[in-house]
Amino acid sequence: MTTRLTDVVVVGDGPAGCALAHGCARRGVDHVLVGTGLPWTATYGCWVDELEPAAGDLGSVADLFAVTMSELAIVTDRRQILSRSYGVLDNDAVRDRLLADVDHQWARVERVEAAGSGYQVALADGSTIQCRLVIDATGWPSGLVPPGRIEVPAWQTAIGVVLPAPPPGDLGTPTLMDFRPVRAGGATRESTIGPAGVATFAYSVPVQDGWLVEETVLAARPAVEPISLLARLAARLGRHPDSLLGDAVRSEYVRIPMGASIASPSVAVPFGAAAGYIHPATGFSVGASLRAVPRVADAIASAIDAGPKAAVDRDAVWEAVWPTAMRRTRVFHDMGLNMLLRLDAEGQSEFFSTFFDLPTERWSAFLRIDAVPADIASVMAEVFRTSSWSLRRRLAGGNPAALARLLRP
Ligand SMILES: Cc1cc2nc3c(=O)[nH]c(=O)nc-3n(C[C@H](O)[C@H](O)[C@H](O)COP(=O)(O)OP(=O)(O)OC[C@H]3O[C@@H](n4cnc5c(N)ncnc54)[C@H](O)[C@@H]3O)c2cc1C
Repeated sequence: MTTRLTDVVVVGDGPAGCALAHGCARRGVDHVLVGTGLPWTATYGCWVDELEPAAGDLGSVADLFAVTMSELAIVTDRRQILSRSYGVLDNDAVRDRLLADVDHQWARVERVEAAGSGYQVALADGSTIQCRLVIDATGWPSGLVPPGRIEVPAWQTAIGVVLPAPPPGDLGTPTLMDFRPVRAGGATRESTIGPAGVATFAYSVPVQDGWLVEETVLAARPAVEPISLLARLAARLGRHPDSLLGDAVRSEYVRIPMGASIASPSVAVPFGAAAGYIHPATGFSVGASLRAVPRVADAIASAIDAGPKAAVDRDAVWEAVWPTAMRRTRVFHDMGLNMLLRLDAEGQSEFFSTFFDLPTERWSAFLRIDAVPADIASVMAEVFRTSSWSLRRRLAGGNPAALARLLRP
């Protein structure tokens, strides 16, 4: 069987793997991207300005989006408008752009083993690749780590339909979160259609092939099955579930692990969702992975340049994937997730109306995994201070000591 030689093997051709391999190619690093070649089927939303820092590697950011919108609504007991450009990625255009200069091999990696001062990557077809550094961008849970007991604090789940045209009413305008309860006749506060006691919101945006509306559970444990949300989605749109699915261009089932711990490097250095880049309070990771490319690809290029025979300094690459400051920020985001998990529908609705009352640059920082830790701590403290007493009690409920430390000036 054949053996290829290269410096870096990136395993996993999702958004993170393709982007990092592209970053390596742009820096002249000898590399191979190995992946299943599967198309990206998820609808990837992202704030447009999130990608600007990586424009050097990604090229014109505007062209990466199939659709952008300058405003998004948040609907709680009132309607707030977020004036920050948000978009849905053009998956094929992004993938084509990233892969244009990448050595991409369609294959499944069976295992990665240390070999001399480097690694041997064994593929399902029996061939191997000899290299000096392996990046694990196989998503979450990692496709390179034997499946053990998977510990996930919580799951974001959703069911979505893409309709040929915008739905009538408010959801026919771009909406990030609509927390209005969906009720059968006469009911009072909480939604009474769909799983009882489960807080959801509607996400409604234009996409390349129509208009996507999703009924979303931000975070729950155990996971709420996406199909159990169909009745509530249909009722929210004033439709019968069967006719809604009948009219849909396509449907989307979302399951995202929330708050999964930061992986530690084994034979491969993780990147993207495999490294724990999924934001514990939003479920997003694509923007963070694309934005991290300049930092991580630079670290890979300098580690490789250390000389052909030298073992590659993987710790330097890992420090670029998860810089110390970002780990501190993660502690606050995990705290945020635990607070959100304690809130019912009303609590979430009040939390987000308070959160999005902050100046745009403040709430935007909280939504980034690489924001400065002090900024995150002060945003959380400000949300706490501007919340009602009943919400404060629930936010503080689980861990008042941690909250007290957070609030200490
Ligand atoms: C339906 C859905 C909607 C989402 N929406 C958003 C969103 O709007 N915005 C956002 O930021 N995030 C979103 N996410 C969350 C998250 O960002 C995505 O999961 C994203 O795809 C993670 O990118 P990744 O490249 O790290 O991993 P993945 O996209 O999971 O890519 C990993 C790749 O590795 C390949 N692979 C796995 N094992 C092997 C192996 N052994 N050998 C070779 N190849 C292998 C897989 O086939 C896959 O192509 C969504 C997730 C889902 C499921």
